[in-house]
Amino acid sequence: MDRQAKVVAERQKLLDNGIISRAELSSFQMELDSRERVLELAQNRAKLLEELRAMAETEQRLVRAARPAGDVLIRYDGDGMFSLADLPTISTEFEKRFHRALPVSALGQTLVHQSMGLDHRNRVDVALNPDSSEGVWLRQLLEKLHVPYLAFRSAVAGAATAPHIHIGTGSTRLKLAAR
Ligand SMILES: [Zn+2]
Repeated sequence: MDRQAKVVAERQKLLDNGIISRAELSSFQMELDSRERVLELAQNRAKLLEELRAMAETEQRLVRAARPAGDVLIRYDGDGMFSLADLPTISTEFEKRFHRALPVSALGQTLVHQSMGLDHRNRVDVALNPDSSEGVWLRQLLEKLHVPYLAFRSAVAGAATAPHIHIGTGSTRLKLAAR
């Protein structure tokens, strides 16, 4: 984008001096606009990955701390079982109730979890505040189904992690061979 911005600035001078036409400049300008959009997409993607990374790190840290984290982490063990095959039941119920899709932020093992050596297979993160009406409803549904979950509230000490509900058991470290 920087390179193209220079090209456009140079062409602008040529236009000002009457050497090229406005139409000739506009094709360079269009190329610059398109590069700007690509850059913006890449920046959004990087931000999203950074959020995912922070979430995974917080999950790991809070779950590893053996003593209950009290007001920041709600832990429900249920029957200790959840697999991605159980997700449609939950998302369908959510859609029926709230007329929108379940806001899943991490579905199973992601590249972020993989790169951090964390096992997030058969685990799903949902971008809902556990204390919002939707979050409370989802937790009640999970408890009715005996599905284990970890609910992270917003005020996590030392981490600006978005509140979310992690469905499934806590992430464990991946075996070296699986990395
Ligand atoms: Zn998670």
